[in-house]
Amino acid sequence: MRNFDYHVADRVDEAFSIDGTQTMAIAGGTELLNWFRLGIAAPDKVIDIGRIAGLNTIERSGDWLSIGALATLNEIGEHAIVHEHAAVLAEACLAAASPQIRNRATIGGNVLQKTRCAYFRAEGPLPWACNKRVPGSGCSAREGLNERHAIFGWTDACVAVQPSDPLVALAALDAEVEIDGRAGRRRLAVAELHLTQQEAAAAGLDAALAETKLRPGEVIVGYHVPVRKSERSAYVKVRERASYEYALVSAAAVVALQDGLIARAAVALGSVAQKPWRLRTAEAQLVGQPPTRDAVRPILLAGLADARPLAHNGYKVAMAAGAATRAIVEAAA
Ligand code: SF4
Repeated sequence: MRNFDYHVADRVDEAFSIDGTQTMAIAGGTELLNWFRLGIAAPDKVIDIGRIAGLNTIERSGDWLSIGALATLNEIGEHAIVHEHAAVLAEACLAAASPQIRNRATIGGNVLQKTRCAYFRAEGPLPWACNKRVPGSGCSAREGLNERHAIFGWTDACVAVQPSDPLVALAALDAEVEIDGRAGRRRLAVAELHLTQQEAAAAGLDAALAETKLRPGEVIVGYHVPVRKSERSAYVKVRERASYEYALVSAAAVVALQDGLIARAAVALGSVAQKPWRLRTAEAQLVGQPPTRDAVRPILLAGLADARPLAHNGYKVAMAAGAATRAIVEAAA
């Protein structure tokens, strides 16, 4: 048992003292309490931001669908205007975790969940190396059990993936995340919120530890999804069982059709990197194609040509192309 101070915040600025280590924020608690149990986190102070008024709204405002950070996955997944304007997000929320967890888990916390790497998610102290748990100890997955790990953006320091389902949908929707902190509010493309290990290293950060562009004291307060009336979308999650399971690979697709052909496409993959992976070259080449499996799949497969699979996860390349193909065909239908 380890004691910590607990403070219930009434305002967002009461959370600006969080630093991610000694002071941490809690909302639904479905992730942070696991970190405590496993020894991943041991803060001195926890600030409960889950009761701050006004952060759980889901509403349309002009050309944007705005979703507060404290909206739960079930609230988003079952909301009529989310189904109407961002079906892929509703599907991704309802594909996550279990119904009980979705009643507690917030969209703010969900995108900040940590990797499901089995070497990382074990009760400490660990008998093996993991740079995310013990910096400098090494990465057991790099040459070990890595069938669920990254095919893009990894380094020898860490090959983990980001497992959030809603994050992939938000990236495909070109959503923006709204962040509050001592320097004021700012908005960032959701697709750029997270860092791959390569991006972290290139920025001079710890490749295994740095996972997002959030600064100390910053809190996610909401998301803004552009409403584009002519677009349709779908989410495909490939997993080993139908419920309460993380994706081997997932794909979110948003398409607009004109005269039966693809006029615009956005495709984001999940569980292939430490961030949602947009297939931007393939997206451009899909324009003008019919939304059929035969037309779409070769383009998506070519868009995955720069993947760098590990020893045991080469299957993810074909699986990702298949999931993305299904997502586009289902969205268009
Ligand atoms: Fe740890 Fe990352 Fe390696 Fe997993 S992949 S063992 S989280 S360093």
